[in-house]
Amino acid sequence: MGGDLDAERIQVEAIGEPGDRRFRLLSIVNGQTYAVWMEKQQVHALGLALEQMLERLPDAGPVLPEAPGLTEFDRETRKQFRVGRMELGYDDDEDRIVIVAHDLNSQEESDAAFACRMTRAQARDLSAESAAVVAAGRPRCTMCGEPMGPGPHVCPQQNGHFRHDLETVDDAEDT
Ligand SMILES: [Zn+2]
Repeated sequence: MGGDLDAERIQVEAIGEPGDRRFRLLSIVNGQTYAVWMEKQQVHALGLALEQMLERLPDAGPVLPEAPGLTEFDRETRKQFRVGRMELGYDDDEDRIVIVAHDLNSQEESDAAFACRMTRAQARDLSAESAAVVAAGRPRCTMCGEPMGPGPHVCPQQNGHFRHDLETVDDAEDT
């Protein structure tokens, strides 16, 4: 079986004002909401890791969109903790992505505080959400709408070049 760990819902969210945001993964497993508090870098890393894993998986045919779970998250759940180590795995028998999160404050190395299994569609959504949530705190470029910084912004609206001379740009737009 193993179906016990299927995530009914899973998402990441940011709480608070830009510059002072906290991040958490929310999931409903077996009717129980888990809140896994994460650092921003962990959210970012999770999104990338999911994306890379999905790219490497064998083709399983079209991914059908799923109806989102209807159960509301219990945002006051007592099942919450700050995550230390996270692991991703893949169950190729049932084509599920497995996510395991360890409590940062737990002494037991083997003690997973949260584990669930996701469909590819859920993993894809979670990956996209992670990227969006991480990016949402940053100002957006007025040209292309992409989040800026912290490094230099290479704008696709400017063919990847930086715009230094506004007059040159006006000329370019007239042509
Ligand atoms: Zn831009």
